[in-house]
Amino acid sequence: MSGPTIDRRGLLGAGVATAAALGISGVAMGEGAVLAPGVRKADLAAALQAFRGVVGDEWVAGNAGSLKPWSKSYTPDPSGRHAPVGAVCPDSVEQVQAILKIANQYRQPLWPVSTGKNMGYGSTTTAAPGQVVLDLKRMNRILSVDVELCTALVEPGVTYQQLRDYLDEHNIPLWIDVPTVGPIVGPVGNTLDRGVGYTPYGDHFMVQCGMEVVLADGEILKTGMGSTKNPSAWQAFKWGYGPYLDGIFTQSNFGVVTKMGLWLMPAPPVYKPLVVRHKKVEDVARIVDAMRPLRIANIVPNVVLMMGAAYQLAMFHRRGEVYAGAGPVPEAAFAEFAAQHDLGMWNTYIALYGTSAQVAESERIVRAAFAAIDGEVMTEDQMQGNPWFHHHATLMRGGLSLEEVGLARWKGSGGGLAWFAPVAPAKGSETQGQIDLAHQILAKYGFDYTAAFAIGMRELHHIIALLYDKSDPEEEKRADACYRELVTGFGDRGWASYRTGVHAMDLVAAQYGETNRAVNAAIKQALDPNHILAPGKSGIA
Ligand SMILES: Cc1cc2nc3c(=O)[nH]c(=O)nc-3n(C[C@H](O)[C@H](O)[C@H](O)COP(=O)(O)OP(=O)(O)OC[C@H]3O[C@@H](n4cnc5c(N)ncnc54)[C@H](O)[C@@H]3O)c2cc1C
Repeated sequence: MSGPTIDRRGLLGAGVATAAALGISGVAMGEGAVLAPGVRKADLAAALQAFRGVVGDEWVAGNAGSLKPWSKSYTPDPSGRHAPVGAVCPDSVEQVQAILKIANQYRQPLWPVSTGKNMGYGSTTTAAPGQVVLDLKRMNRILSVDVELCTALVEPGVTYQQLRDYLDEHNIPLWIDVPTVGPIVGPVGNTLDRGVGYTPYGDHFMVQCGMEVVLADGEILKTGMGSTKNPSAWQAFKWGYGPYLDGIFTQSNFGVVTKMGLWLMPAPPVYKPLVVRHKKVEDVARIVDAMRPLRIANIVPNVVLMMGAAYQLAMFHRRGEVYAGAGPVPEAAFAEFAAQHDLGMWNTYIALYGTSAQVAESERIVRAAFAAIDGEVMTEDQMQGNPWFHHHATLMRGGLSLEEVGLARWKGSGGGLAWFAPVAPAKGSETQGQIDLAHQILAKYGFDYTAAFAIGMRELHHIIALLYDKSDPEEEKRADACYRELVTGFGDRGWASYRTGVHAMDLVAAQYGETNRAVNAAIKQALDPNHILAPGKSGIA
Protein backbone atom coordinates (compact mmCIF):
# COMPACT_ATOMS: atom_id res chain seq x y z
CA MET A 1 0.00 0.00 0.00
CA SER A 2 1.15 3.56 -0.54
CA GLY A 3 -0.35 6.98 -0.03
CA PRO A 4 -0.57 9.77 2.48
CA THR A 5 -1.74 9.71 6.07
CA ILE A 6 -5.06 11.50 6.09
CA ASP A 7 -5.69 13.47 9.25
CA ARG A 8 -9.41 13.72 9.92
CA ARG A 9 -9.19 15.22 13.38
CA GLY A 10 -12.33 17.19 13.94
CA LEU A 11 -13.67 16.85 10.40
CA LEU A 12 -16.58 14.61 11.29
CA GLY A 13 -17.68 16.79 14.16
CA ALA A 14 -20.23 16.34 16.89
CA GLY A 15 -22.77 18.23 14.82
CA VAL A 16 -23.53 14.90 13.11
CA ALA A 17 -25.37 13.68 16.21
CA THR A 18 -28.33 15.73 17.43
CA ALA A 19 -30.20 15.48 20.73
CA ALA A 20 -33.32 14.47 18.82
CA ALA A 21 -31.41 11.76 16.95
CA LEU A 22 -30.22 10.35 20.26
CA GLY A 23 -33.80 10.35 21.54
CA ILE A 24 -33.31 12.86 24.33
CA SER A 25 -36.54 14.72 25.10
CA GLY A 26 -36.57 15.54 28.81
CA VAL A 27 -34.28 16.05 31.77
CA ALA A 28 -36.21 15.52 35.00
CA MET A 29 -35.26 12.59 37.23
CA GLY A 30 -37.55 9.58 37.21
CA GLU A 31 -39.82 8.75 40.18
CA GLY A 32 -39.24 5.41 41.82
CA ALA A 33 -35.90 4.73 40.10
CA VAL A 34 -33.81 2.01 41.81
CA LEU A 35 -30.65 3.77 42.94
CA ALA A 36 -27.12 2.43 43.22
CA PRO A 37 -26.07 1.28 46.71
CA GLY A 38 -25.18 4.26 48.91
CA VAL A 39 -26.49 6.84 46.43
CA ARG A 40 -29.42 8.98 47.64
CA LYS A 41 -32.03 10.45 45.34
CA ALA A 42 -30.60 13.89 46.04
CA ASP A 43 -27.12 12.72 44.96
CA LEU A 44 -28.41 11.43 41.65
CA ALA A 45 -30.35 14.65 41.06
CA ALA A 46 -27.30 16.75 41.89
CA ALA A 47 -25.06 14.64 39.64
CA LEU A 48 -27.50 14.95 36.71
CA GLN A 49 -27.71 18.70 37.29
CA ALA A 50 -23.92 18.98 37.30
CA PHE A 51 -23.71 16.86 34.10
CA ARG A 52 -26.04 19.40 32.46
CA GLY A 53 -23.52 22.10 33.32
CA VAL A 54 -20.84 20.14 31.42
CA VAL A 55 -22.68 18.96 28.30
CA GLY A 56 -25.77 21.19 28.14
CA ASP A 57 -29.37 20.37 29.10
CA GLU A 58 -30.20 18.66 25.85
CA TRP A 59 -27.51 16.00 26.33
CA VAL A 60 -28.71 14.66 29.69
CA ALA A 61 -31.71 12.36 30.17
CA GLY A 62 -33.17 11.45 33.53
CA ASN A 63 -36.84 10.55 33.42
CA ALA A 64 -38.59 7.39 32.30
CA GLY A 65 -39.79 8.97 29.04
CA SER A 66 -36.50 10.48 27.98
CA LEU A 67 -34.61 7.34 29.02
CA LYS A 68 -36.56 5.01 26.74
CA PRO A 69 -33.82 4.74 24.09
CA TRP A 70 -31.38 3.52 26.77
CA SER A 71 -33.84 1.20 28.55
CA LYS A 72 -34.73 -1.09 25.65
CA SER A 73 -33.05 -4.45 25.51
CA TYR A 74 -33.54 -7.89 23.98
CA THR A 75 -32.16 -9.66 27.06
CA PRO A 76 -34.39 -10.96 29.87
CA ASP A 77 -34.90 -8.64 32.83
CA PRO A 78 -37.93 -10.08 34.65
CA SER A 79 -37.31 -8.09 37.83
CA GLY A 80 -36.48 -4.78 36.13
CA ARG A 81 -32.95 -4.48 37.59
CA HIS A 82 -31.11 -3.36 34.51
CA ALA A 83 -32.75 -0.16 33.26
CA PRO A 84 -30.48 2.88 33.70
CA VAL A 85 -31.50 5.92 35.79
CA GLY A 86 -29.98 8.52 33.49
CA ALA A 87 -27.87 9.14 30.41
CA VAL A 88 -25.24 11.74 29.62
CA CYS A 89 -23.67 12.33 26.20
CA PRO A 90 -20.29 14.13 26.15
CA ASP A 91 -18.62 15.17 22.92
CA SER A 92 -14.99 15.48 24.03
CA VAL A 93 -12.37 13.89 26.26
CA GLU A 94 -12.45 16.98 28.48
CA GLN A 95 -16.20 16.51 29.01
CA VAL A 96 -15.62 12.83 29.87
CA GLN A 97 -13.05 13.92 32.48
CA ALA A 98 -15.47 16.49 33.96
CA ILE A 99 -18.26 13.89 34.14
CA LEU A 100 -15.99 11.41 35.94
CA LYS A 101 -15.07 14.08 38.48
CA ILE A 102 -18.76 14.70 39.23
CA ALA A 103 -19.49 10.97 39.37
CA ASN A 104 -16.71 10.55 41.96
CA GLN A 105 -18.05 13.49 43.97
CA TYR A 106 -21.58 12.00 44.20
CA ARG A 107 -20.48 8.32 44.00
CA GLN A 108 -22.84 8.02 41.04
CA PRO A 109 -21.95 5.01 38.86
CA LEU A 110 -21.66 5.43 35.07
CA TRP A 111 -22.06 2.78 32.37
CA PRO A 112 -19.90 3.72 29.33
CA VAL A 113 -21.08 2.72 25.84
CA SER A 114 -19.73 3.64 22.42
CA THR A 115 -22.42 3.12 19.76
CA GLY A 116 -24.56 1.39 22.39
CA LYS A 117 -25.95 -1.45 20.28
CA ASN A 118 -24.79 -4.46 22.24
CA MET A 119 -27.95 -6.26 21.16
CA GLY A 120 -28.59 -9.64 22.74
CA TYR A 121 -26.06 -8.71 25.47
CA GLY A 122 -28.09 -5.88 27.05
CA SER A 123 -27.76 -2.97 24.58
CA THR A 124 -27.37 0.10 26.86
CA THR A 125 -28.92 -1.44 29.96
CA THR A 126 -26.60 -1.94 32.92
CA ALA A 127 -25.32 -4.91 34.93
CA ALA A 128 -26.40 -3.47 38.30
CA PRO A 129 -29.17 -0.99 39.18
CA GLY A 130 -28.89 2.77 39.53
CA GLN A 131 -26.35 3.62 36.80
CA VAL A 132 -26.21 6.54 34.38
CA VAL A 133 -25.27 5.62 30.81
CA LEU A 134 -22.16 7.47 29.66
CA ASP A 135 -23.07 7.49 25.98
CA LEU A 136 -20.11 8.33 23.72
CA LYS A 137 -22.02 8.39 20.40
CA ARG A 138 -21.32 12.07 19.88
CA MET A 139 -17.56 11.44 19.92
CA ASN A 140 -17.66 10.14 16.38
CA ARG A 141 -14.53 11.44 14.66
CA ILE A 142 -12.34 9.35 12.39
CA LEU A 143 -9.05 10.79 13.60
CA SER A 144 -6.66 9.31 11.08
CA VAL A 145 -6.35 6.70 8.37
CA ASP A 146 -2.83 5.68 7.36
CA VAL A 147 -3.13 4.23 3.87
CA GLU A 148 0.44 2.86 3.82
CA LEU A 149 0.24 1.09 7.17
CA CYS A 150 -3.44 0.15 6.69
CA THR A 151 -4.46 1.51 10.10
CA ALA A 152 -7.10 3.82 11.52
CA LEU A 153 -7.57 5.75 14.76
CA VAL A 154 -11.19 6.38 15.72
CA GLU A 155 -13.37 7.73 18.50
CA PRO A 156 -15.98 5.54 20.23
CA GLY A 157 -19.04 6.84 18.35
CA VAL A 158 -17.66 5.99 14.89
CA THR A 159 -19.79 3.31 13.20
CA TYR A 160 -18.53 0.70 10.75
CA GLN A 161 -20.77 2.33 8.14
CA GLN A 162 -19.06 5.68 8.74
CA LEU A 163 -15.63 4.09 8.35
CA ARG A 164 -16.67 2.23 5.18
CA ASP A 165 -18.14 5.43 3.67
CA TYR A 166 -14.99 7.34 4.53
CA LEU A 167 -12.74 4.78 2.79
CA ASP A 168 -15.02 4.73 -0.26
CA GLU A 169 -15.24 8.52 -0.47
CA HIS A 170 -11.44 8.71 -0.45
CA ASN A 171 -10.92 5.77 -2.83
CA ILE A 172 -8.88 3.94 -0.23
CA PRO A 173 -8.65 0.25 -1.20
CA LEU A 174 -8.93 -1.13 2.33
CA TRP A 175 -11.48 -3.49 3.82
CA ILE A 176 -13.03 -3.26 7.25
CA ASP A 177 -14.19 -6.28 9.26
CA VAL A 178 -17.71 -6.11 10.68
CA PRO A 179 -20.03 -8.05 12.98
CA THR A 180 -23.35 -9.09 11.42
CA VAL A 181 -24.99 -5.83 12.51
CA GLY A 182 -22.23 -3.60 11.07
CA PRO A 183 -24.11 -0.51 9.85
CA ILE A 184 -25.34 0.62 13.28
CA VAL A 185 -22.51 -0.53 15.56
CA GLY A 186 -18.87 0.48 15.81
CA PRO A 187 -15.32 -0.83 16.14
CA VAL A 188 -14.65 0.58 19.62
CA GLY A 189 -17.68 -0.90 21.43
CA ASN A 190 -17.46 -4.17 19.51
CA THR A 191 -13.75 -4.62 20.17
CA LEU A 192 -14.07 -3.68 23.84
CA ASP A 193 -16.62 -6.46 24.24
CA ARG A 194 -14.25 -8.73 22.26
CA GLY A 195 -16.65 -9.12 19.36
CA VAL A 196 -16.00 -10.87 16.06
CA GLY A 197 -16.45 -10.51 12.31
CA TYR A 198 -15.90 -12.86 9.38
CA THR A 199 -12.94 -11.79 7.24
CA PRO A 200 -9.33 -12.79 8.11
CA TYR A 201 -9.43 -9.77 10.47
CA GLY A 202 -12.43 -11.21 12.32
CA ASP A 203 -10.86 -11.38 15.80
CA HIS A 204 -11.26 -7.69 16.52
CA PHE A 205 -9.11 -7.51 19.60
CA MET A 206 -6.29 -9.19 17.66
CA VAL A 207 -6.36 -6.34 15.09
CA GLN A 208 -6.77 -3.57 17.68
CA CYS A 209 -3.65 -1.44 18.18
CA GLY A 210 -3.34 1.33 20.77
CA MET A 211 -5.93 2.93 23.05
CA GLU A 212 -6.50 6.21 24.82
CA VAL A 213 -8.23 5.58 28.15
CA VAL A 214 -9.64 8.07 30.64
CA LEU A 215 -9.16 6.49 34.04
CA ALA A 216 -11.71 6.90 36.84
CA ASP A 217 -9.66 9.71 38.42
CA GLY A 218 -9.60 11.62 35.12
CA GLU A 219 -5.97 10.77 34.21
CA ILE A 220 -5.37 9.91 30.55
CA LEU A 221 -3.48 6.71 29.70
CA LYS A 222 -2.24 5.96 26.20
CA THR A 223 -1.40 2.28 25.80
CA GLY A 224 1.32 0.69 23.66
CA MET A 225 3.52 3.28 21.90
CA GLY A 226 0.99 6.09 22.45
CA SER A 227 2.81 7.96 25.20
CA THR A 228 6.36 7.83 23.79
CA LYS A 229 8.04 10.92 22.32
CA ASN A 230 7.31 9.64 18.83
CA PRO A 231 3.83 8.13 18.93
CA SER A 232 3.80 7.54 15.16
CA ALA A 233 4.14 3.80 15.93
CA TRP A 234 0.98 3.89 18.12
CA GLN A 235 -1.13 2.06 15.53
CA ALA A 236 1.80 -0.04 14.25
CA PHE A 237 3.06 -1.93 17.34
CA LYS A 238 0.62 -3.34 19.83
CA TRP A 239 2.80 -4.29 22.76
CA GLY A 240 4.82 -1.19 23.72
CA TYR A 241 7.01 -2.00 26.73
CA GLY A 242 6.29 -3.68 30.06
CA PRO A 243 2.97 -5.28 30.97
CA TYR A 244 0.53 -5.23 28.07
CA LEU A 245 -2.41 -3.17 29.29
CA ASP A 246 -4.96 -3.02 26.47
CA GLY A 247 -6.54 -6.33 27.49
CA ILE A 248 -7.57 -5.05 30.91
CA PHE A 249 -9.77 -2.41 29.32
CA THR A 250 -11.80 -4.98 27.35
CA GLN A 251 -14.85 -6.64 28.92
CA SER A 252 -14.03 -4.64 32.01
CA ASN A 253 -14.87 -1.52 34.00
CA PHE A 254 -11.38 -0.12 34.58
CA GLY A 255 -11.53 2.96 32.31
CA VAL A 256 -13.36 4.85 29.57
CA VAL A 257 -11.79 4.27 26.16
CA THR A 258 -11.87 7.48 24.14
CA LYS A 259 -9.67 6.54 21.16
CA MET A 260 -8.77 3.21 19.61
CA GLY A 261 -6.46 2.15 16.80
CA LEU A 262 -7.31 -0.72 14.47
CA TRP A 263 -5.77 -2.47 11.51
CA LEU A 264 -7.50 -2.54 8.14
CA MET A 265 -7.15 -5.26 5.53
CA PRO A 266 -5.82 -4.54 2.03
CA ALA A 267 -8.48 -5.46 -0.52
CA PRO A 268 -7.31 -8.76 -2.10
CA PRO A 269 -7.09 -9.12 -5.87
CA VAL A 270 -9.40 -12.16 -5.79
CA TYR A 271 -12.13 -13.00 -3.29
CA LYS A 272 -13.93 -16.34 -3.48
CA PRO A 273 -16.75 -17.19 -1.03
CA LEU A 274 -17.88 -20.81 -0.72
CA VAL A 275 -20.43 -22.75 1.31
CA VAL A 276 -20.05 -26.40 2.28
CA ARG A 277 -23.39 -28.13 2.89
CA HIS A 278 -23.92 -31.18 5.06
CA LYS A 279 -27.26 -32.93 5.35
CA LYS A 280 -26.99 -34.47 8.82
CA VAL A 281 -26.66 -32.77 12.22
CA GLU A 282 -24.34 -35.63 13.28
CA ASP A 283 -21.79 -34.45 10.66
CA VAL A 284 -20.81 -31.68 13.06
CA ALA A 285 -17.70 -33.40 14.48
CA ARG A 286 -16.35 -34.33 11.05
CA ILE A 287 -16.76 -30.76 9.81
CA VAL A 288 -14.85 -29.27 12.74
CA ASP A 289 -12.06 -31.84 12.41
CA ALA A 290 -11.77 -31.13 8.67
CA MET A 291 -11.76 -27.40 9.21
CA ARG A 292 -9.25 -27.21 12.10
CA PRO A 293 -6.07 -27.91 10.08
CA LEU A 294 -7.23 -25.56 7.33
CA ARG A 295 -7.70 -22.75 9.86
CA ILE A 296 -4.45 -23.42 11.74
CA ALA A 297 -2.43 -23.45 8.51
CA ASN A 298 -4.30 -20.32 7.38
CA ILE A 299 -5.46 -21.99 4.16
CA VAL A 300 -8.92 -20.83 5.19
CA PRO A 301 -7.97 -17.47 6.74
CA ASN A 302 -11.36 -16.09 7.78
CA VAL A 303 -13.45 -16.69 10.90
CA VAL A 304 -15.62 -19.56 9.66
CA LEU A 305 -19.31 -19.78 10.50
CA MET A 306 -20.91 -23.22 10.57
CA MET A 307 -24.55 -22.24 10.51
CA GLY A 308 -27.23 -24.63 11.72
CA ALA A 309 -30.38 -24.82 9.58
CA ALA A 310 -32.58 -23.50 12.40
CA TYR A 311 -30.45 -20.36 12.89
CA GLN A 312 -30.39 -19.73 9.15
CA LEU A 313 -34.16 -20.10 8.84
CA ALA A 314 -34.82 -17.81 11.82
CA MET A 315 -32.97 -14.99 10.04
CA PHE A 316 -35.59 -14.69 7.32
CA HIS A 317 -38.63 -16.63 8.54
CA ARG A 318 -40.93 -16.66 11.54
CA ARG A 319 -41.40 -19.75 13.65
CA GLY A 320 -45.03 -20.22 12.57
CA GLU A 321 -43.92 -20.69 8.94
CA VAL A 322 -41.74 -23.64 9.91
CA TYR A 323 -43.89 -25.32 12.54
CA ALA A 324 -47.35 -24.66 13.98
CA GLY A 325 -47.20 -27.04 16.97
CA ALA A 326 -46.43 -26.37 20.64
CA GLY A 327 -43.00 -27.01 22.21
CA PRO A 328 -39.64 -26.89 20.44
CA VAL A 329 -39.66 -27.26 16.63
CA PRO A 330 -38.83 -30.91 15.77
CA GLU A 331 -35.61 -31.48 13.82
CA ALA A 332 -37.58 -33.04 10.94
CA ALA A 333 -39.53 -29.79 10.45
CA PHE A 334 -36.30 -27.79 10.27
CA ALA A 335 -34.79 -30.34 7.87
CA GLU A 336 -37.78 -30.22 5.52
CA PHE A 337 -37.89 -26.41 5.45
CA ALA A 338 -34.11 -26.21 5.01
CA ALA A 339 -34.17 -28.59 2.03
CA GLN A 340 -36.91 -26.50 0.40
CA HIS A 341 -34.62 -23.48 0.70
CA ASP A 342 -31.43 -25.06 -0.63
CA LEU A 343 -29.83 -25.26 2.82
CA GLY A 344 -28.06 -28.11 4.56
CA MET A 345 -28.46 -28.93 8.26
CA TRP A 346 -24.96 -27.38 8.50
CA ASN A 347 -23.90 -24.63 6.13
CA THR A 348 -20.22 -23.83 6.56
CA TYR A 349 -19.22 -20.49 5.05
CA ILE A 350 -15.57 -20.02 4.12
CA ALA A 351 -13.75 -17.58 1.85
CA LEU A 352 -10.46 -17.51 0.01
CA TYR A 353 -8.42 -14.36 -0.60
CA GLY A 354 -5.30 -13.60 -2.66
CA THR A 355 -4.05 -13.85 -6.21
CA SER A 356 -5.96 -16.13 -8.56
CA ALA A 357 -3.16 -18.73 -8.29
CA GLN A 358 -3.29 -18.66 -4.48
CA VAL A 359 -7.06 -18.93 -4.41
CA ALA A 360 -7.09 -21.77 -6.95
CA GLU A 361 -4.57 -23.78 -4.93
CA SER A 362 -6.41 -23.17 -1.64
CA GLU A 363 -9.70 -24.17 -3.28
CA ARG A 364 -8.14 -27.43 -4.45
CA ILE A 365 -7.05 -28.24 -0.87
CA VAL A 366 -10.43 -27.25 0.60
CA ARG A 367 -12.36 -29.33 -1.93
CA ALA A 368 -10.22 -32.38 -1.21
CA ALA A 369 -10.74 -31.98 2.56
CA PHE A 370 -14.50 -31.77 2.25
CA ALA A 371 -14.86 -34.44 -0.44
CA ALA A 372 -13.43 -36.83 2.16
CA ILE A 373 -16.34 -36.09 4.52
CA ASP A 374 -19.21 -35.91 2.00
CA GLY A 375 -19.40 -32.11 2.02
CA GLU A 376 -21.03 -30.42 -0.92
CA VAL A 377 -18.90 -27.39 -1.83
CA MET A 378 -20.94 -24.70 -3.59
CA THR A 379 -19.74 -21.51 -5.31
CA GLU A 380 -21.33 -18.09 -5.65
CA ASP A 381 -22.50 -18.92 -9.18
CA GLN A 382 -24.18 -22.10 -7.99
CA MET A 383 -25.88 -20.26 -5.10
CA GLN A 384 -27.15 -17.32 -7.17
CA GLY A 385 -30.34 -15.90 -5.63
CA ASN A 386 -29.88 -17.72 -2.31
CA PRO A 387 -30.30 -14.98 0.36
CA TRP A 388 -28.27 -16.86 2.97
CA PHE A 389 -25.28 -17.28 0.69
CA HIS A 390 -25.54 -13.65 -0.34
CA HIS A 391 -25.62 -12.56 3.32
CA HIS A 392 -22.52 -14.55 4.29
CA ALA A 393 -20.63 -13.65 1.10
CA THR A 394 -21.25 -10.00 2.05
CA LEU A 395 -19.95 -10.49 5.60
CA MET A 396 -16.81 -12.40 4.56
CA ARG A 397 -15.67 -9.38 2.53
CA GLY A 398 -16.48 -6.95 5.36
CA GLY A 399 -19.74 -5.81 3.76
CA LEU A 400 -22.50 -4.25 5.81
CA SER A 401 -25.84 -5.89 6.46
CA LEU A 402 -28.59 -5.79 9.07
CA GLU A 403 -30.47 -8.85 7.83
CA GLU A 404 -29.68 -10.99 10.86
CA VAL A 405 -31.73 -8.77 13.16
CA GLY A 406 -34.68 -10.78 11.78
CA LEU A 407 -33.76 -13.37 14.44
CA ALA A 408 -35.46 -11.22 17.07
CA ARG A 409 -38.77 -11.70 15.25
CA TRP A 410 -38.71 -15.52 15.42
CA LYS A 411 -41.26 -15.65 18.26
CA GLY A 412 -44.10 -13.26 19.09
CA SER A 413 -43.77 -9.50 18.96
CA GLY A 414 -41.48 -8.89 21.90
CA GLY A 415 -38.03 -9.13 20.32
CA GLY A 416 -36.44 -11.44 22.92
CA LEU A 417 -32.85 -12.57 22.19
CA ALA A 418 -30.03 -13.57 24.52
CA TRP A 419 -26.72 -14.86 23.13
CA PHE A 420 -25.19 -17.83 24.93
CA ALA A 421 -21.66 -18.39 23.68
CA PRO A 422 -19.57 -21.14 25.33
CA VAL A 423 -16.03 -21.79 24.08
CA ALA A 424 -14.21 -25.08 23.46
CA PRO A 425 -11.11 -26.21 21.60
CA ALA A 426 -11.77 -26.67 17.86
CA LYS A 427 -12.09 -30.45 18.04
CA GLY A 428 -14.94 -32.54 16.74
CA SER A 429 -15.07 -34.42 20.03
CA GLU A 430 -16.26 -31.20 21.73
CA THR A 431 -19.36 -30.73 19.58
CA GLN A 432 -22.06 -33.40 19.87
CA GLY A 433 -22.07 -33.33 23.68
CA GLN A 434 -22.68 -29.58 23.58
CA ILE A 435 -25.50 -29.94 21.09
CA ASP A 436 -27.18 -32.66 23.16
CA LEU A 437 -26.86 -30.61 26.35
CA ALA A 438 -28.22 -27.48 24.66
CA HIS A 439 -31.22 -29.39 23.28
CA GLN A 440 -31.92 -30.91 26.68
CA ILE A 441 -31.88 -27.57 28.57
CA LEU A 442 -33.67 -25.54 25.88
CA ALA A 443 -36.40 -28.18 25.50
CA LYS A 444 -36.95 -28.24 29.26
CA TYR A 445 -37.96 -24.57 29.04
CA GLY A 446 -39.79 -24.89 25.70
CA PHE A 447 -37.24 -23.09 23.46
CA ASP A 448 -35.72 -23.97 20.08
CA TYR A 449 -32.09 -24.82 19.42
CA THR A 450 -31.10 -22.04 16.97
CA ALA A 451 -27.33 -22.16 16.84
CA ALA A 452 -24.09 -21.88 14.90
CA PHE A 453 -20.43 -22.63 15.56
CA ALA A 454 -17.71 -20.09 14.76
CA ILE A 455 -14.30 -21.64 14.13
CA GLY A 456 -11.37 -19.39 15.06
CA MET A 457 -7.63 -20.06 14.94
CA ARG A 458 -7.75 -22.84 17.54
CA GLU A 459 -11.13 -22.42 19.25
CA LEU A 460 -14.77 -23.14 18.69
CA HIS A 461 -17.47 -20.69 19.74
CA HIS A 462 -20.89 -22.29 20.06
CA ILE A 463 -23.25 -19.40 19.34
CA ILE A 464 -26.71 -20.18 20.66
CA ALA A 465 -29.43 -17.58 20.09
CA LEU A 466 -32.00 -18.00 22.86
CA LEU A 467 -35.06 -16.60 21.06
CA TYR A 468 -38.18 -15.82 23.10
CA ASP A 469 -41.13 -13.45 23.21
CA LYS A 470 -40.19 -10.61 25.54
CA SER A 471 -43.73 -9.19 25.50
CA ASP A 472 -44.88 -12.26 27.49
CA PRO A 473 -43.72 -11.84 31.13
CA GLU A 474 -44.00 -15.56 31.86
CA GLU A 475 -41.85 -16.39 28.84
CA GLU A 476 -39.31 -13.73 29.80
CA LYS A 477 -38.97 -15.38 33.24
CA ARG A 478 -38.60 -18.78 31.61
CA ALA A 479 -35.92 -17.45 29.23
CA ASP A 480 -34.02 -16.01 32.18
CA ALA A 481 -34.11 -19.33 34.05
CA CYS A 482 -33.18 -21.25 30.90
CA TYR A 483 -30.17 -19.00 30.24
CA ARG A 484 -28.94 -19.49 33.81
CA GLU A 485 -29.16 -23.24 33.49
CA LEU A 486 -27.26 -23.08 30.18
CA VAL A 487 -24.45 -21.14 31.90
CA THR A 488 -24.15 -23.51 34.84
CA GLY A 489 -24.85 -26.73 32.89
CA PHE A 490 -22.21 -25.93 30.27
CA GLY A 491 -19.87 -24.47 32.92
CA ASP A 492 -19.96 -27.73 34.88
CA ARG A 493 -18.76 -29.55 31.74
CA GLY A 494 -15.90 -27.05 31.20
CA TRP A 495 -17.59 -25.00 28.50
CA ALA A 496 -17.56 -21.46 29.87
CA SER A 497 -18.85 -18.45 27.90
CA TYR A 498 -16.52 -15.96 26.19
CA ARG A 499 -19.03 -13.13 26.64
CA THR A 500 -22.47 -12.60 28.15
CA GLY A 501 -25.30 -10.16 28.69
CA VAL A 502 -25.85 -7.81 31.63
CA HIS A 503 -28.37 -10.29 33.09
CA ALA A 504 -25.77 -13.02 33.71
CA MET A 505 -22.39 -11.37 34.24
CA ASP A 506 -21.90 -12.57 37.82
CA LEU A 507 -22.88 -16.10 36.95
CA VAL A 508 -20.45 -16.31 34.02
CA ALA A 509 -17.65 -14.74 36.08
CA ALA A 510 -18.20 -17.50 38.65
CA GLN A 511 -17.29 -20.09 35.96
CA TYR A 512 -13.76 -18.65 35.85
CA GLY A 513 -12.89 -19.21 39.52
CA GLU A 514 -12.18 -17.16 42.62
CA THR A 515 -8.54 -16.23 41.99
CA ASN A 516 -9.48 -14.67 38.69
CA ARG A 517 -12.24 -12.67 40.39
CA ALA A 518 -9.93 -11.57 43.21
CA VAL A 519 -7.30 -10.25 40.78
CA ASN A 520 -9.95 -8.33 38.85
CA ALA A 521 -11.30 -6.92 42.12
CA ALA A 522 -7.79 -5.79 43.17
CA ILE A 523 -7.21 -3.99 39.86
CA LYS A 524 -10.64 -2.39 40.18
CA GLN A 525 -9.90 -1.17 43.69
CA ALA A 526 -6.59 0.31 42.57
CA LEU A 527 -7.96 2.11 39.51
CA ASP A 528 -11.48 3.02 40.60
CA PRO A 529 -11.66 3.07 44.41
CA ASN A 530 -15.12 4.71 44.40
CA HIS A 531 -16.46 2.06 41.99
CA ILE A 532 -18.04 4.64 39.72
CA LEU A 533 -17.32 2.83 36.45
CA ALA A 534 -19.89 0.18 35.46
CA PRO A 535 -20.05 -1.85 38.68
CA GLY A 536 -21.16 -5.38 37.81
CA LYS A 537 -19.58 -5.44 34.32
CA SER A 538 -18.11 -8.93 33.80
CA GLY A 539 -18.92 -9.66 37.44
CA ILE A 540 -16.51 -6.97 38.74
CA ALA A 541 -18.18 -4.85 41.45
C1 LIG B 1 -28.73 -10.28 15.09
C2 LIG B 1 -27.47 -9.90 15.80
C3 LIG B 1 -26.26 -10.30 15.28
C4 LIG B 1 -25.07 -9.98 15.94
N1 LIG B 1 -23.89 -10.38 15.39
C5 LIG B 1 -22.73 -10.11 16.02
C6 LIG B 1 -21.49 -10.53 15.48
O1 LIG B 1 -21.43 -11.09 14.39
N2 LIG B 1 -20.35 -10.29 16.17
C7 LIG B 1 -20.38 -9.63 17.37
O2 LIG B 1 -19.32 -9.42 17.96
N3 LIG B 1 -21.55 -9.23 17.90
C8 LIG B 1 -22.72 -9.43 17.27
N4 LIG B 1 -23.90 -8.98 17.82
C9 LIG B 1 -23.88 -8.35 19.15
C10 LIG B 1 -23.72 -6.80 19.16
O3 LIG B 1 -24.83 -6.19 18.54
C11 LIG B 1 -22.41 -6.34 18.55
O4 LIG B 1 -21.33 -6.95 19.18
C12 LIG B 1 -22.19 -4.82 18.64
O5 LIG B 1 -21.05 -4.47 17.89
C13 LIG B 1 -21.98 -4.32 20.08
O6 LIG B 1 -22.53 -3.06 20.18
P1 LIG B 1 -21.68 -1.73 20.00
O7 LIG B 1 -20.67 -1.96 18.94
O8 LIG B 1 -22.67 -0.63 19.83
O9 LIG B 1 -20.93 -1.64 21.38
P2 LIG B 1 -21.39 -0.89 22.69
O10 LIG B 1 -22.77 -1.31 23.04
O11 LIG B 1 -21.13 0.55 22.55
O12 LIG B 1 -20.32 -1.47 23.71
C14 LIG B 1 -20.35 -2.78 24.17
C15 LIG B 1 -19.92 -2.82 25.63
O13 LIG B 1 -18.53 -2.49 25.71
C16 LIG B 1 -18.28 -1.61 26.82
N5 LIG B 1 -17.84 -0.31 26.28
C17 LIG B 1 -18.26 0.22 25.12
N6 LIG B 1 -17.64 1.36 24.87
C18 LIG B 1 -16.81 1.58 25.90
C19 LIG B 1 -15.85 2.60 26.18
N7 LIG B 1 -15.64 3.58 25.31
N8 LIG B 1 -15.13 2.50 27.31
C20 LIG B 1 -15.31 1.47 28.15
N9 LIG B 1 -16.18 0.47 27.93
C21 LIG B 1 -16.93 0.51 26.82
C22 LIG B 1 -19.58 -1.50 27.57
O14 LIG B 1 -19.64 -2.47 28.58
C23 LIG B 1 -20.62 -1.78 26.51
O15 LIG B 1 -21.81 -2.27 27.05
C24 LIG B 1 -25.11 -9.26 17.17
C25 LIG B 1 -26.35 -8.85 17.67
C26 LIG B 1 -27.51 -9.16 17.00
C27 LIG B 1 -28.83 -8.72 17.57
